Amino acid sequence: MSSVPDISLNGGTTIPQLGFGVYQVKPEQTVEAVSTALEVGYRHIDTAEMYQNEAEVGEAVESFGRSKVFVTSKLNNGFHKPDDARRAFDETLAKLRSDFVDLFLIHWPLPTLYDGDYVSTWNTLAEFLSDGRAKAIGVSNFQVAHLERLAAETGVVPAVNQIEVHPYLTNEHVRAYGADNDIVTEAWSPIAQGQVLDDPAIGKIASAVGKTPAQVVLRWHIQRGDVIFPKSTTPSRIKENFEIFDFELDDDAVDALSALDKGEQGRTGPNPDTFDYLPD
Ligand code: NAD
Repeated sequence: MSSVPDISLNGGTTIPQLGFGVYQVKPEQTVEAVSTALEVGYRHIDTAEMYQNEAEVGEAVESFGRSKVFVTSKLNNGFHKPDDARRAFDETLAKLRSDFVDLFLIHWPLPTLYDGDYVSTWNTLAEFLSDGRAKAIGVSNFQVAHLERLAAETGVVPAVNQIEVHPYLTNEHVRAYGADNDIVTEAWSPIAQGQVLDDPAIGKIASAVGKTPAQVVLRWHIQRGDVIFPKSTTPSRIKENFEIFDFELDDDAVDALSALDKGEQGRTGPNPDTFDYLPD
């Protein structure tokens, strides 16, 4: 089995570059899906309070061995006020059956809510870093302006920024800010929830290298240096998505995939500047 590279985070810890995402995995499917992924060799699980499956992730990880797995979770949108964030973090740890999380993120910046204040939320996550209950902290869906504001108003640099990235939305501007400022980019929806897999240009490269379109796109992310965690509940796909370390794309193939970028039109999820969803 080929091994997954570790990527260094600015606080001194490391993260496996390939993980397993559990967005839209139903709670009743989660223990089995995560256990399958861990058996295949994944050692990094990406969950969130919003996904409503932290408890099942905790169950699967506990039975496999907590110390062997890197676990990320995220603060839900309704809990940005500092006291709410503290309570929500306690609950996340309880559900994960752990006294720490490897990485904890602000899920969305919500610049149109909370009087535009995501800074006090960020300072609250810094408390979890200081007390050791979060081994690293970061953000998700932050645009460059949001990151610049954290840099100007706080002394803590996010370890990661988890953003939508795939061949139809290469998100270069936000990735470049991360690269320049020691913030690792995590690419969510790395295969655009399957939407890029029928692209003829990707199919052509896949045939040429003898891999599937999904493997080619995931490999493209790896060679660009981003952290990814594709999601599937199908065991054969969970395995397929892990088998991306026994081949390489040449520069032309990497460039051809990057050239599929459609800018904002390629976005499949919400725009972080306007997203204002609050759970009930
Ligand atoms: P994804 O790009 O990983 O696509 C998942 C879907 O693609 C699956 O449901 C399946 O239908 C299909 N698929 C998976 N493997 C395949 C294969 N080998 N062949 C064919 N089809 C395949 O999408 P995602 O789940 O949205 O993103 C991955 C993870 O990123 C999530 O599980 C979550 O952890 C994270 N995420 C974070 C945010 C955020 O706001 N921070 C948003 C979305 C997703």
